[in-house]
Amino acid sequence: MLESEVKELRDEINKYSYNYYVLDNPLISDFEYDTLFKKLQKIEEEHPELITPDSPTQRVGGVSSSFEEYSHKYRLYSLDNTYNADELRKWYERVQKECPGKVELVCELKIDGLAIALTYKDGLFVTGVTRGNGVVGENITQNLKTVKAVPLRLFENVDVEVRGEIYMPKSSFEKLNEESLKNGEKLIANPRNTAAGSLRQLDITITAKRDLSMFTYTAIIERSDYIPKTHWDSLQYIKKLGFKTNPNIRLVDDIEGAIAFCEEWKTKRFDLDYATDGVVIKVNRLDFQNEMGFTSRAPKWATAFKFPPEEITTKLLDIEIGIGKTGAVTPVAVLEPVNLAGSVVSRASLHNFDEIERLDIRIGDRVLIKKAAEIIPKVIKVVDSKEHNNLPVYIPPKKCPECNSELEVRDGEVNLYCANEKCPSVIKAKLEYFVSKEAMDIDFIGPSVIAQLFKLGLVKSPADFYKLTMDDFMKLDSVKEKSASNMYNSIQESKSRPLSRFVTALSIRHVGKETAELIVNDFPSLDALKEASLEDLSKIDGVGDKIAQSVYDYFHNLENLNLINEFISLGFEFNDTVAEKTTELAGKTFVLTGTLQTMTRDEASDKIKSRGGKTSSSVSKNTSYVVAGINPGSKLDKAEKLGVIILNEDEFLALIGMNK
Ligand code: NAD
Repeated sequence: MLESEVKELRDEINKYSYNYYVLDNPLISDFEYDTLFKKLQKIEEEHPELITPDSPTQRVGGVSSSFEEYSHKYRLYSLDNTYNADELRKWYERVQKECPGKVELVCELKIDGLAIALTYKDGLFVTGVTRGNGVVGENITQNLKTVKAVPLRLFENVDVEVRGEIYMPKSSFEKLNEESLKNGEKLIANPRNTAAGSLRQLDITITAKRDLSMFTYTAIIERSDYIPKTHWDSLQYIKKLGFKTNPNIRLVDDIEGAIAFCEEWKTKRFDLDYATDGVVIKVNRLDFQNEMGFTSRAPKWATAFKFPPEEITTKLLDIEIGIGKTGAVTPVAVLEPVNLAGSVVSRASLHNFDEIERLDIRIGDRVLIKKAAEIIPKVIKVVDSKEHNNLPVYIPPKKCPECNSELEVRDGEVNLYCANEKCPSVIKAKLEYFVSKEAMDIDFIGPSVIAQLFKLGLVKSPADFYKLTMDDFMKLDSVKEKSASNMYNSIQESKSRPLSRFVTALSIRHVGKETAELIVNDFPSLDALKEASLEDLSKIDGVGDKIAQSVYDYFHNLENLNLINEFISLGFEFNDTVAEKTTELAGKTFVLTGTLQTMTRDEASDKIKSRGGKTSSSVSKNTSYVVAGINPGSKLDKAEKLGVIILNEDEFLALIGMNK
């Protein structure tokens, strides 16, 4: 019985492995794969008689046959892994049993790419081979020569074999997928599989075009004047030889220091431009490493802590239709709830109906979903299954589910639109946007309050918010005096918001927060906006013809002008905007990274802009200052490399005249 269960489990793992390593097309998430793998490991541990030489637990990785096979001189191992801090402590106890005294550890980010081994003779690059099954890999020397981070000659004439991870920056991966989407080609699930696929191209001109890089993390030194005694020193030496090493490493005294490093990078990793799926923890002293040795598939002196999964599979229960403030109709996946990256997920984005068709997503399918940092989870693909073909193909709606008007396809756009301005869903979406953080920033009024106010007929347009009385709020479900007064006060208080926020809140097509700021910068009053000609508007730096037309149309529509007059009659003045603005930071560009103590990044950005400065999301030679809060991301490293001035929070406050 158990024997057949084990066989089934092995077959399943082998199928997933083949799709992952050979086809670069994973069918399930790493977390699910690791869970299956551990299940098999546990059964085999309890019943060693069931272990077969071809069991996946006895080998490393996989190998494909397109390239010439190459036998490694030194075997490349895998790593044992865990998602759990207590298991790290148990591992450390085992280490301490074998190594006397204090056992220092090196923590490194686990780069989610493709393992390779590079051989150098007399400082010259000779061969580059994939890890393959650890014993035999593929000779991809020519492809690797196109990767700029692979040095063709080292700074010293040594004989050395180094190991590293080839990866594709997340930004390049996204660009590549955008292009594939445009050309109607297959999208690739993640940067790791894209890097692997790009590297193992028989046509090396394709590899050369892909933006691949490499972090090197180990060296086996065969001939050199210098032989390091610790892993830490060998990392410094690898760097000195001319290899790129990852800067995010730390030497710690014990496992608690390593656990702190793992905790820190659980969230900080999202700021990096490369994928990392965990932390590798290694015993620092090389003599200790030699003493401890290896199991059949992994070193005993190292282990990997894996971050909580960002991907998981679940069942698609339904596809709901959401309608945005522009009337754009978007499909939303309703999912069987699953735990993902620390929270329960029951809804995910499906982008648009083209995407559903392209991925052939059907209600009832098992789907792979992904979540990264605060981003809403997305459906990435359908998991192959026998049931899929028996499910009905999904047909997008033809009519708005709310107001029943025909949905429109607009030129060059993938979305479907409900063009009915009076559609209750469109009105509610505009009201929700009006009060949002990005627009008027009104606390205590969320979608459910808006839905009730709308249903009661108390709010039909955003101006109606300002006519509400305390009694009106008391009519809402479970609202008592305290929360009624909170709602009332935060609405009234929002009357003093600057004009740019008000313009943002109007939901003018193509005008978001940034664009509204640009427009108000040049036309700092409602009268100026009403009088601006189409030509004047299109002259604004950063505003194209399409936006100019949309703003012009908005301020020449009678209904909109009536709405604006209504706001003015309710006591809106907007004369603070011009006075508030200064030019002390004119010409200066800021990049904000990490968490600030005295304000949010958005607030800091407003302060910079109100002083005439600009903010940008990425560091370049043109950046004037990088403001670094707590836990800064890779932007700080880049700033250091480019010699950009770095300000801590106090220095930033001093610069904008807000220091105590
Ligand atoms: P692994 O990727 O979990 O760990 C070993 C590898 O980590 C090494 O070979 C090395 O390439 C890499 N690595 C990255 N940074 C490193 C560093 N700083 N120091 C040392 N090594 C570093 O193990 P594996 O054997 O390559 O692959 C197994 C994993 O692959 C599984 O745990 C699973 O997550 C994934 N997988 C997924 C599927 C799937 O269907 N989703 C299928 C097969 C494997």
